[in-house]
Amino acid sequence: MNLLDLHCHSTASDGALPPAELVARAAARGCKTLALTDHDCTAGLAEARRAAAGQGVALINGVEVSVTWRKRTIHIVGLGIDPEHPALAAGLQTIRDGRVERARKMAESLAHVGIEGTFEGAMAHCGNPEMIGRTHFARHLVETGRAKDVQQVFKRYLVSGKPGYVPHQWAELADAVGWIVAAGGIAVIAHPGRYKIGKLLMSELIGEFRAAGGTAIEVVSGSHSVSEIPQFARLAREQGLLASSGSDFHAPGEGGRDVGLTLPMPEGCEPVWSRLGVEAAM
Ligand code: AMP
Ligand code: MN
Ligand code: MN
Ligand code: MN
Repeated sequence: MNLLDLHCHSTASDGALPPAELVARAAARGCKTLALTDHDCTAGLAEARRAAAGQGVALINGVEVSVTWRKRTIHIVGLGIDPEHPALAAGLQTIRDGRVERARKMAESLAHVGIEGTFEGAMAHCGNPEMIGRTHFARHLVETGRAKDVQQVFKRYLVSGKPGYVPHQWAELADAVGWIVAAGGIAVIAHPGRYKIGKLLMSELIGEFRAAGGTAIEVVSGSHSVSEIPQFARLAREQGLLASSGSDFHAPGEGGRDVGLTLPMPEGCEPVWSRLGVEAAM
């Protein structure tokens, strides 16, 4: 196990634990280095940093930026960012600005299939109203008995072609990578296994990502199956990208990996943490 986790979420975005509880949970599991990477938002970092200092955890400032690339949603993680950097802060604000309106449209489209009150219901699960997103709707729909768990809600209601899905334009890939790099961070293609794109499209994505200043890709991810790990390790080596590792933890009991520890990085990959000034603490 690596005692390090470079991707997780708090109540500042769509995680269920406040930053201090998230850090405490990671520390209790033996984690030595944690990056908090909330979606489009850095508001949880100050609390996480205070908690980490008291628990012997090295906190890396992170973010996960929502991008629309060729009509697909792609996530780009930024590690080691300065959250105060003006270009990054302003860019993230533009992404957050679209979320409430999108949530209203989602609620309207769910109302069309007879499911009323989801805007208010989702907001009740959201610690940071400007960060309202699909996960908050999913938790509300589970709570009201529309599905047995969050995964099932996504399948039935929240993915393309389903009644609660509203297409949305997120940031441009080059802008997102540019903001992260300008803010002193390393840009990382998050959970590449989630995009279900072929080899050619993946190499085009990597080409544009690299041209914009991106240098890393997640190889070990809570969103990857065990068989995807060596596959993306090979891709990282072939493409000369640094390799990252993170749980993508959101909430206890919501599936995926718990926060704090990640599976070992395959041999031959250059770990992104070598550039972050931290040890993997194996
Ligand atoms: P949003 O940025 O509001 O579109 O929400 C995206 C978030 O929804 C992701 O970060 C995940 O936390 C969650 N998500 C997306 N797809 C799924 C899925 N199939 N099952 C469970 N959670 C998902
Ligand atoms: Mn999420
Ligand atoms: Mn993601
Ligand atoms: Mn994530």
